[in-house]
Amino acid sequence: MSQAKPNPFENALEQLRIAAGYLKLDEGIHQMLAHPKREVTVSLPVKMDDGKIKVFTGFRVQHNDARGPFKGGIRYHPNVSLDEVRALSSWMTWKTSVVNIPFGGGKGGIICDPKSMSPGELERMTRRFAFAIAPIIGPYKDVPAPDVYTNAQTMAWIMDVYNMINGVMSPAVITGKPIALGGSLGRDRATGRGAVFVTVEAAKVKKLDLKKATFAVQGFGNAGSNYAEILQEHGPKLMGASDSSGAIMSKTGMDAGKLVAYKEKTGSVSGFPGSQPISNAELLQMDVDILSPAALENQILPDIAKGVKAKIVAECANGPTTPEADKILAKNGVFVCPDILANAGGVVVSYLEWVQNLERIAWSEDEVNSMLEKKMIGAFKDVHDASVKYNVDMRTGAMITAVGRVAEAVKGLGLFP
Ligand code: GLU
Repeated sequence: MSQAKPNPFENALEQLRIAAGYLKLDEGIHQMLAHPKREVTVSLPVKMDDGKIKVFTGFRVQHNDARGPFKGGIRYHPNVSLDEVRALSSWMTWKTSVVNIPFGGGKGGIICDPKSMSPGELERMTRRFAFAIAPIIGPYKDVPAPDVYTNAQTMAWIMDVYNMINGVMSPAVITGKPIALGGSLGRDRATGRGAVFVTVEAAKVKKLDLKKATFAVQGFGNAGSNYAEILQEHGPKLMGASDSSGAIMSKTGMDAGKLVAYKEKTGSVSGFPGSQPISNAELLQMDVDILSPAALENQILPDIAKGVKAKIVAECANGPTTPEADKILAKNGVFVCPDILANAGGVVVSYLEWVQNLERIAWSEDEVNSMLEKKMIGAFKDVHDASVKYNVDMRTGAMITAVGRVAEAVKGLGLFP
């Protein structure tokens, strides 16, 4: 059954309100954390291939920088809105805090349909956006990165514009770059890999034998497909998957690597040999041990949550579960590894990329992966300890951990003037 999609920023504020209650946060500090520090909306006139001018709207929301420069991705999608970017920017603040890296939170987005644009149109739109936000980004101000439908090439164009305007060669202004331009080994697969480290820890808590486990992934983009490929190395079998073109399931299990290759060839997971089509709701309610929503926000709504059979939900997406749905999952004993923890691997390796750029050093992929593993396991422990201490679900445990650290930094800075 379809339900009206809640406003993601209202969901984010509700999650903050719950954590503020447990932390007995001063109401003034709570209000400061509920309001992004700066919101920029820009108009981007772009010459399209047919010679006509099209004006796109873009956003950069800088939520909080008390713990370090604003940090977060840039999303290209037709459904981008200011409230969505606000929500995503606040989740970045909590994410960088929960994994304890010295960054705040920000996010950007452009309302566009990248799938219908040519490479040249995408480049011109990206460069115009980079020009528009150049005054407010920088290695010690705000460090963007990839998100939905943006990639290493997009980051290279943004860096190029920023550097030309400023007359510098400063790779640390952005992360998720191509390796040839100062990108970090391991960054491209880091979100999926980080979510696997978290899933392995969750399986220990839930006493789930991964060798015999099954899983399904909603969204087979960068995060979801890498999650599937890497998780499968630990034993679990992939039983269901989806992308924007539809969902599929298999009774015997699918090889994630073959599914990635099939999607690369055909453009979607639909029609994968040996699979059958199912609905999105059926995918989310499949009888599997682990479910990863790895697409967009507002996917696990209350009606869906009631039928979720997975024991562990590992959120590779940002904001896939609404606060109402969270209550149902918690009541039904579903162990949710929340987005700000589960998908933090991307920003952790972004941090490692930034450090390598500033220090002019380059780590091997093994070094990067082992630092990522240490960070993710440490953060899982912090969140799990908080959830036990306060007797709350993992999302609330993560928010208590994250908001507590940011609030302490905000209080320490004091108020200007
Ligand atoms: N877009 C990713 C996220 O939502 C990565 C952000 C980053 O690396 O700064 O976490």
